[in-house]
Amino acid sequence: MESFKKEIKIKASGEKEFLQAVSEVIDSIEPVLKKDKKYLENNILKRIIEPERVLMFRVSWLDDRGSIHVNRGYRIQMNSAIGPYKGGLRFHPTVNLSVLKFLAFEQVFKNALTGLPLGGGKGGSDFDPKGKSETEIMRFCQAFMSELYRHIGPDTDVPAGDIGVGAREIGYLFGMYKKLRNEFSGTLTGKGINWGGSLIRPEATGYGCVYFASEMLKEEGSSMKGKTCLISGSGNVALFAAEKVIQLGGKVITLSDSSGYIYEKDGINQEKLEFLKTLKFVKRERISEYVKEYKEAEYFPIDKKKDYNPLWNHRAQCAFPCATQNEINGKDAENLLNNGVFLVAEGANMPTSKEALDIFLDKKIFFAPGKASNAGGVAVSGLEMTQNNLRMSWSREEVDKHLQNIMKNIHSSCLEAANKYGTPGNYVNGANIAGFIKVADAMIEQGVV
Ligand code: NDP
Repeated sequence: MESFKKEIKIKASGEKEFLQAVSEVIDSIEPVLKKDKKYLENNILKRIIEPERVLMFRVSWLDDRGSIHVNRGYRIQMNSAIGPYKGGLRFHPTVNLSVLKFLAFEQVFKNALTGLPLGGGKGGSDFDPKGKSETEIMRFCQAFMSELYRHIGPDTDVPAGDIGVGAREIGYLFGMYKKLRNEFSGTLTGKGINWGGSLIRPEATGYGCVYFASEMLKEEGSSMKGKTCLISGSGNVALFAAEKVIQLGGKVITLSDSSGYIYEKDGINQEKLEFLKTLKFVKRERISEYVKEYKEAEYFPIDKKKDYNPLWNHRAQCAFPCATQNEINGKDAENLLNNGVFLVAEGANMPTSKEALDIFLDKKIFFAPGKASNAGGVAVSGLEMTQNNLRMSWSREEVDKHLQNIMKNIHSSCLEAANKYGTPGNYVNGANIAGFIKVADAMIEQGVV
């Protein structure tokens, strides 16, 4: 194991996020490798960390003044052992190979946990949608798809949204795909309801994360009712996580964007949440606008001089980081614990740094890793693919019921695997082990390919 870790550090040097994700999984699955020699004999570790294919391409596009811009496009087709590659597209200036490889790697395990036949992938671009006009966004999406379309398909690779890619971008991407391939298929998920999308898909990641947290709370005989919650982000995942917390009787006192956060001592209610949905999804404005409408709330801009995020420094019981990777550092973790937080469920992918994770695991609080707790989004994407194949659509209630069952099953798979391999209650080990075994066994059964 040690020589393997050394080798990968050299091979993926500079890929900080990817190494972080890989090393967490390796630590978790060590007991599995010791117990069953077939994984080492089949060299599964080396095979599972190597993407099946990495696509990197130029995306040239024209802005509204006619100037030419060039961005880099990517698609990581990580693992197709249990189904077609599946995973989102991220448009954000911080996108690079390391970030997308980490996301694709996580996606492989997450998709396996859903119980659906989905392989893992991820893609995107370093394009920054902020400040771009509607027509610039459309032209960029079309330019991006003019290369990606050759590499994807309903049985090959099915992308979806992620940071910076919501319903609007999926629409433009799908339109271009359909034109170039001359086919109407379920190649992208997160589609509009009138043209093949699934009900509950926009809500699924946030709702699913709170369903998972509720399952954890059941373990100690309690529920979301009356729990004060800190949530970061104000995108797709954060706002629907907030909605489910409110519906289940909890109190949401924070939300944020990359400029700062809002604090509502008495909690954000459904009416205020609707205001936020319009603000973020329709008007695409900053969260600071919220305090102009609701004077009782406070707004705190990001202070880059601070070595902690004050959002995580309020009295609460539950925390849902729903913005981006590594947004909770060691100091934030200490602050959360000192403020009474005993449950952290990741809505975002890997929002907890390694240092913070060790602190949470050491204190044995309820900690849900993103690959388990945010799997609701990809699960409903899988249901969208099924509905597309059947050429029918299910009701809101049907999809929500499937989502709740899937989150319940992921929760119990994590607990069972953690228990079986000697770390009861450790959801990180449980998720990594359950996901690994499913994918690794399929790889072995399919031979050396
Ligand atoms: P959105 O683009 O809808 O929202 C992202 C939110 O996070 C925004 O409020 C954004 O603020 C904030 N944010 C982004 N980057 C940073 C940063 N560097 N620092 C501080 N805040 C930041 O994305 P989603 O809600 O879809 O995704 C959020 C997370 O959830 C990501 O980690 C994603 O991978 C993960 N995820 C998403 C799924 C989905 O179904 N959408 C499924 C599973 C996981 P601003 O607007 O200022 O940029």
